[in-house]
Amino acid sequence: MSFQVERISDESDRASSLEDNARIAAIAAIRREETPPKDWDKETCYECGEDLPEQRIVANRFLCVGCKSVQEKRMKGF
Ligand SMILES: [Zn+2]
Repeated sequence: MSFQVERISDESDRASSLEDNARIAAIAAIRREETPPKDWDKETCYECGEDLPEQRIVANRFLCVGCKSVQEKRMKGF
């Protein structure tokens, strides 16, 4: 009996985390941005330390425009 109860709560946990994952993936796909690094200070560019405009921070953009375009060029180069 206790096994049943555990199973049910386990499955509802998994369902809600699947929903979260789907939502996060959808948001990420729209923004086409990777997850910001955990040690990012959410204030400055992760690459060069330049202050970031608030819109970029809110949108989880951890690179300034300059570093982002350098990164994109680098990615295309490979
Ligand atoms: Zn930068």
